[in-house]
Amino acid sequence: MTLSFTYQGSAAQIVFGRGVSQDVGTWVEKIGCRRALVLSTPHQAADGAALAERLGALTIGTFAEATMHTPVEVTERAVARAAELGADCVISLGGGSTTGLGKAMAYRTDIPQIVVPTTYAGSEVTPILGQTENGAKTTLRSPKVTPEVVIYDPDLTMGLPVAMSVTSGLNAIAHAAEGLYASDRNPITTMMAIDGMRALRDALPAIVRDAGDMAAREKALYGAWLCGTVLGQVAMSLHHKICHTLGGSFDTPHAETHSIMLPHTIGFNAEAVPDLMAPVAELFGGSPGQGLHDFARSIGSPMALRDLGLTEADLDRAAEIATSNPYSNPRPIDRGSIRSLLQNAWSGGRPPY
Ligand code: NAD
Repeated sequence: MTLSFTYQGSAAQIVFGRGVSQDVGTWVEKIGCRRALVLSTPHQAADGAALAERLGALTIGTFAEATMHTPVEVTERAVARAAELGADCVISLGGGSTTGLGKAMAYRTDIPQIVVPTTYAGSEVTPILGQTENGAKTTLRSPKVTPEVVIYDPDLTMGLPVAMSVTSGLNAIAHAAEGLYASDRNPITTMMAIDGMRALRDALPAIVRDAGDMAAREKALYGAWLCGTVLGQVAMSLHHKICHTLGGSFDTPHAETHSIMLPHTIGFNAEAVPDLMAPVAELFGGSPGQGLHDFARSIGSPMALRDLGLTEADLDRAAEIATSNPYSNPRPIDRGSIRSLLQNAWSGGRPPY
């Protein structure tokens, strides 16, 4: 075997550990700022306000309107508020939606970002920004959107409801699983993908048994960091393409969609690259698709697209959109094969591979 690859580590400063979010103020100063705007969703507004209170003179206020899929009109309001208040950095406290808002602001204004993640989505360590405008979701990659500092504090994930922990964790596993066959993968991303999936495989069942299991929470967040880093460093394929299609065109919820599609897309592709996907089979047992299906079921994941409000008639259009633009995938795809894969995911069946 010959080895040939390029590798670029992430530019973000990673801080990991219980209680480290207590030091956010230190990080505001370390990056040369003094007037932070704290971002959150409306749901986490109280947490954002509490963080602002702790920051004291280092913050100039909060903006608690972050929304799933980063609508451009919300970003424009946030940019205007940051300018009005004279903010010199943002602190994004929350999941992928809040991180997305901070990244969208940085894309437009170069404002530095500190992210304090509270889910396992992984957006905080990627140069990827998804945004929606007039009902259409577009994605771009730019080094401008990579956050400067990421503060992973497992204490902040203790309140993540079990159902969201499960789907968010499977969302993270999806980044790693697709990273294993990415055309631009390298030995480091493969190592991170396997270790990230292993951490989540061990942690998620423990969190389902006891949402307050601190060791499991720590392990899950560690796995999420690794899986998110893989997402940020290599190209994604069929799985992310289909989830993007379903979320963007049919408004299905992000993490649930990933959770349901994962066994079907990974199983489908694994048939073409069984050696590359052997780690998935080893970690989850059986074949990659069936192993992931059984694992997802065992931790109470949603299993069927029809439970997300998708109708059978939507599947034709979804298959058409997901195959309309060419992209790199380890197994050749056509509308018919993707339509039947979607049919199985719609009814929640065990994948045949
Ligand atoms: P989310 O950020 O939308 O969070 C869902 C809900 O849970 C929100 O109301 C949030 O406030 C709440 N929440 C978050 N953490 C909580 C906690 N610890 N306790 C209680 N409630 C909590 O969900 P998500 O799955 O993290 O992010 C999804 C979004 O992120 C999508 O828009 C997706 O496209 C994007 N995303 C982007 C990337 C990228 O690299 N650009 C990667 C992954 C996800």
